[in-house]
Amino acid sequence: MRSFGGGLRPQGLASRVLHESDALLTRSKALAIKFGTTGELTMAKMTDRILGLAGTPEQIRNIAICAHIDHGKTTFSDNLLSGAGMMSEELAGQARQLDFHEDEAQRGITIDSAAVSMVHRVKDKEFLVNLIDTPGHVDFGGDVSRAMRAVDGCIVLVDSVEGIMPQTETVLRQALKERVKPILFINKADRLVKELKLNPAQIQERLTKIIINVNKKIRDIAEPQFQDAWCVDFMNGSVCIGSAIHNWALSADYMKEKGVNFKHIIDAYESGEHKPLAKLAPLHEIVLNAVVKHHPNPVQAAPYKVPKIWPGDVESPVGQSLVKVDPKGPVVFIITKMVIDPQAGEICYGRLFSGTIRKGDQVRLIRAKQDARIQQVFVPNGAKRDIVDAIPAGNICVISGMRGAYPGETVTGQPDMEPFVELLQMFDPVITKAIEAAKPSDLPRLVEVLIQVTKEDPSIKIQINQETGEHLMSGMGELHLEIIENRIKTEKNLEIKTSPPVVVYRETISGRTAEDAEGKSPNKHNRLYFKAEPISASVMEALIAGSIPEGRVKKKEQELWAALEEAGMESKLTRQVRDVFRNNILIDGTRGIVHINEIQELVNDMFEDVMLKGALAGEPCQGIMVTLTDAKLHEDAIHRGPAQMYPAVRNGIRLAIRGAKPYMLEPVQTLLFEAPEEFVGEISKLISNKRGQLLDMNQEGSIVQVKGKMPVAEMFGMANTLRSATGGRGSSSMVDQAFERLPEELQNKIIMQIRTRKGLKDEVEETE
Ligand code: GDP
Repeated sequence: MRSFGGGLRPQGLASRVLHESDALLTRSKALAIKFGTTGELTMAKMTDRILGLAGTPEQIRNIAICAHIDHGKTTFSDNLLSGAGMMSEELAGQARQLDFHEDEAQRGITIDSAAVSMVHRVKDKEFLVNLIDTPGHVDFGGDVSRAMRAVDGCIVLVDSVEGIMPQTETVLRQALKERVKPILFINKADRLVKELKLNPAQIQERLTKIIINVNKKIRDIAEPQFQDAWCVDFMNGSVCIGSAIHNWALSADYMKEKGVNFKHIIDAYESGEHKPLAKLAPLHEIVLNAVVKHHPNPVQAAPYKVPKIWPGDVESPVGQSLVKVDPKGPVVFIITKMVIDPQAGEICYGRLFSGTIRKGDQVRLIRAKQDARIQQVFVPNGAKRDIVDAIPAGNICVISGMRGAYPGETVTGQPDMEPFVELLQMFDPVITKAIEAAKPSDLPRLVEVLIQVTKEDPSIKIQINQETGEHLMSGMGELHLEIIENRIKTEKNLEIKTSPPVVVYRETISGRTAEDAEGKSPNKHNRLYFKAEPISASVMEALIAGSIPEGRVKKKEQELWAALEEAGMESKLTRQVRDVFRNNILIDGTRGIVHINEIQELVNDMFEDVMLKGALAGEPCQGIMVTLTDAKLHEDAIHRGPAQMYPAVRNGIRLAIRGAKPYMLEPVQTLLFEAPEEFVGEISKLISNKRGQLLDMNQEGSIVQVKGKMPVAEMFGMANTLRSATGGRGSSSMVDQAFERLPEELQNKIIMQIRTRKGLKDEVEETE
């Protein structure tokens, strides 16, 4: 465990990621050298080789590397790159080629995922490996899901000493959800020999335990057709072990082929000379061989991946082009990551699933409902991009010119196609700050920068408070907002002021409306009747797991009906669902009302409005099922326009909710603390002092791991508290987040506080 070097840390760095000062300095220096290590000439050659392979999907592998923080992902990626000739060997492990934001290098963590393409030879055949780096930090978990959309295979890294950690499971879950096939790399094997001094039998026992645990998770999480097929196995080469820092690895295939075995490794460390191992069993070769052998190529993956991430008809012409990865079909590209370049504007990383993308192509951004023109096409190369003329289907590539686009957007030459399924956020933002430009004249620039920030990190949400005109920025935690603020100041050169952070709560109900609530239109010609009740526990669970598609119901939604029935909703009721919005459901329970279809969109609009701003304190709602039970509508459409229907729907739904025992939920995060054992008492105290609950405790050597659950409202400034309680030797990372009932004694107090802050009128119905 090396994250306890409390010494030299940049000011304001939160405690969860502590890094050794010397490593920090080396990395900053290495970054200053930038990326000119391979030389322009070889780079140009590399681009030619990449392009030569890009048109042969059978020889492409699109992969990501994912792991719990500190298990060595960045060191490992660097070594793959250096092995493939993408960076110099001396810098591997120091330069952190994929960490290209200045703040990432300084903090020593990988925040955004970047991508790189490299060429790997197996016997006499070359392969193009497109690699996406993902963050090892759950606060920014959204990036991992997005990266998984673009790839077909992933390398899951596990520290051999620590074993599976909570985030290992999280990343596996994210991969399997996007039908990404895992292989396993057990890292830091040097520690088993040097620190734990295990003999070969003990090493084998430990490795077997990790492999069994990983397979157990895969069987638990994967869909039935992948549960066995995607388990990893040392004997078939889908498990490698090694040391990223010392640049060696072993797989069963390589051991057989080259006659290398564990004894060579143990002898090398015992004799104090591990350097030859990097030549004897070079990490990049062994790992990329496993990638080529075990990860599917795009043509193999598309038939099962496309139906999972695209709701359209696979038998249609565009569906067939997607499934066959047809370079002659229509362009279909999904944006999985955006970076705003001061010169080139929106730079979009993503996967081209169909067609050939060329500079100058006219395309449609389906969700933004806008046309755009491809300005440039690039192959990704760490922080750099190399311009190319065109890229065919099956590749990860980069395009520019997509104004108006956000990550998750479907970019296509087939304007009437269905977009890809939306990329879901793992956790909702729970902390908000008001943000303003230090100089009022910078306001237009602030608006522009905030749009850029949400494109670069879609887990940041920006809202404008209609009453005060303030901009509100929400994120996943204090550190997350701190990093974004820093980026606005340093990278975007904008001076800003921010308010202290506040917690984002939720509103829900525990009862059902006894008597249907009436909403009248201002002209009194229309009357709508609503009731509200809690969504059943099983449907709620399915909503939270993301297995029920969100959105307004258009026509026959077989997939939605099946998912709701699967979760236990009565089949008749599923046919009446009109909208699934942020874990709330709208039902049309009316019968035989003549004009009901004409007002459906207006009802949906205001249902969503109330679900975003609940009846108690204007916080978002969850778990509420609203039913429109009856309606009396004016004959004449002119008397039931938005100005009449909006207030009728809004008031009706609010009244129905108020009659259904509404109450507040607060966000609660589960954190994993790690510290030397003597601080266990301090950490337990810290948790219980913050209305927290101790969940689990584990000891590995002299280090204890403590898992605790705490309300986010109590966690402000926790970084400092933890630092002083443990003399800077403790760290924490987020494992999970949920919304739980706010204690009864705090309900009214918090409601009043929020209403005052938002300037809402003071009349509040009593809660339960
Ligand atoms: P990331 O957070 O997963 O990107 O992890 P890093 O690559 O930053 O590595 C975390 C720490 O583990 C760093 O201090 C590395 O030097 C160290 N590390 C990485 N790989 C190995 C390894 O194979 N053996 C040992 N002993 N340390 C390693």
